[in-house]
Amino acid sequence: MSERAQPFHCPYCGDENLWPHEGEDRSWECRSCLRAFTVKMLGMIRPVGQQ
Ligand SMILES: [Zn+2]
Repeated sequence: MSERAQPFHCPYCGDENLWPHEGEDRSWECRSCLRAFTVKMLGMIRPVGQQ
């Protein structure tokens, strides 16, 4: 698993025009809708269908 979780689409407008946002760790900026956001991992989940 890579250290940086890179989103492929902007969660707000769906565009792929994402760039690393300076200043904050794991933050990205969408240059289509001009929003900056962070991606945070909350933890691991169980695989679906297993106990
Ligand atoms: Zn966007």
